[in-house]
Amino acid sequence: MRRDAGSLRHNLARVRALAPGCRVWAVIKADAYGHGIEWAAAQLDGRADGFAVSCVEEAVYLREAGVSSPILVLQGPRAAMDWKTCAAYRLQPVLHDEGQLPGLAAFHGELPGLWIKLDTGMHRLGFPPLKAQILFEQLHRRPAARGGLGWLTHLACADQPGHPQNRAQLDQFAYSVSELPGHRSVANSAAVVSGLAGAGPPGEWVRPGIMLYGPSPLQGGEGPEQDLCPVMTVTAPLIAIKALEPGASVGYGATWSATRPVRAGVVAIGYADGYPRHAPSGTPVLVHGHACPLIGRVSMDMLEIDITSVPAARVGDWVTLWGDGLPVERIARFAGTIGYELLTRVSGRLRIADD
Ligand SMILES: *Cc1c(COP(=O)(O)O)cnc(C)c1O
Repeated sequence: MRRDAGSLRHNLARVRALAPGCRVWAVIKADAYGHGIEWAAAQLDGRADGFAVSCVEEAVYLREAGVSSPILVLQGPRAAMDWKTCAAYRLQPVLHDEGQLPGLAAFHGELPGLWIKLDTGMHRLGFPPLKAQILFEQLHRRPAARGGLGWLTHLACADQPGHPQNRAQLDQFAYSVSELPGHRSVANSAAVVSGLAGAGPPGEWVRPGIMLYGPSPLQGGEGPEQDLCPVMTVTAPLIAIKALEPGASVGYGATWSATRPVRAGVVAIGYADGYPRHAPSGTPVLVHGHACPLIGRVSMDMLEIDITSVPAARVGDWVTLWGDGLPVERIARFAGTIGYELLTRVSGRLRIADD
């Protein structure tokens, strides 16, 4: 696996171009979507306005790695003692559930920022929007809010820009907080790309994740259509080449058979490395820049491809499973999943060699 820092920075510049005037929480949860949280933070520190992670543990890890930028904790405190940790590590937690309120009531420290999440239709995290006013009155004078209050919501259907729920959620959010002071944050990558970002007041914070790493956040889209560049490229060597006669089957279950003479290549990567086992025969793999189809089932440590169309291919050549020239979203579509899942599931065994 290669990670391209230039692409990561290019994609952040695309966020800035698409969401002018907005501040950017670069979302680096889940080990920066499989790219390595410390690496991603180091590349973006001082370029993004802050970082967003899921949990307090991820945020503490970043601080201990020397990151000094603002950090937003999307799931906020779980245990009461997490509030103190947020203060000690200068984290900006998200308050989203009644269950967090006793811990907050017992906490008398100051935070650099406190965000309140409203559930405008995702029905995952957040308070009913009609509680915004009450929460504001309850909280705005407490020391925890001294660093400033912010209002946050999350869109369920932003990857389908024309979906009516987007407008409904944006309207609900705008209505609920219209009279209340504080920062706003609505847009994930899909909302940034589809122009829903900046729908709020100037100075809104956007929260892009996936687009920083190159994939298009839109349903059925591919990154290059949005001038996004893949950050992660997964490659593996060809370790054997064999000639198959018509009728010869390949791999476990003999699910694929040659219907003509085929030159088959064995690639040293499999589902233990994070390549999806559900990728069917026909999923493309790049060999010398040519798309060659996967044949047969993906094994734990190997997979096979039909390299008949690339006679120059030799044992020892490296092939591309996704990344440069082959968007991970395309592989995900073949495998019945999304780019997010493939990126976050790359295993530690894929040796890291940075560009
Ligand atoms: C993960 C996450 C994001 C980033 O989403 P992308 O689709 O990767 O841009 C933004 N906001 C919240 C609340 C999230 O959980």
